[in-house]
Amino acid sequence: MKRAVFLDRDGTLNRNIWNPDTNAFESPLTPEHMELLPGAGAALKLLRQAGFLLVLVSNQPNAAKGKATMQMLDAIHERFEGLLREEGIALDAVYYCFHHPDFSGPCECRKPSPYFLLKARNRFGMDLVASWMIGDRISDVQCGRAAGTRCIFLTQEKGTDIPADYLAPDVWSGAQIILEDQAVRATGRRVSI
Ligand SMILES: [Mg+2]
Ligand SMILES: [Zn+2]
Repeated sequence: MKRAVFLDRDGTLNRNIWNPDTNAFESPLTPEHMELLPGAGAALKLLRQAGFLLVLVSNQPNAAKGKATMQMLDAIHERFEGLLREEGIALDAVYYCFHHPDFSGPCECRKPSPYFLLKARNRFGMDLVASWMIGDRISDVQCGRAAGTRCIFLTQEKGTDIPADYLAPDVWSGAQIILEDQAVRATGRRVSI
């Protein structure tokens, strides 16, 4: 049965960008600001080689909030896919929620809803229990748990209350955790990678 790694986008695969208007690091607002994080491409390659489907699941409410146009969000996505292509990676599926409850009303697809993970399972016939979610927000972890995947929470902190299976500082380290888990399952013993 197929397995997937579900991936958050901003802060997981690409850098968040400082927005002086809001005093916060946020999703890029232009294609020029779209930049992959170090090790992201290499991590995805390793996961692909290990047989995982790569599925992007991302909340992108900036058009709903009036901070960007849909055309701009499309252009930012094009740039994102272009950067991945340069690293030799094509995602198997991309799921964006463009809603925000305060601006466009409630929806069924916004993380922490597991909606897109269940949709991907129905499309690809994947085993969610053998799949993983990687993200840098609690909503990513809650989404993965609601769908039954294991979850890796990306954080620089050593401890957290967030109920993830593993913590990792970045997606590259997260990929190492998944590969090590695969190796343990395959051989019944712990190996270092
Ligand atoms: Mg994120
Ligand atoms: Zn939605």
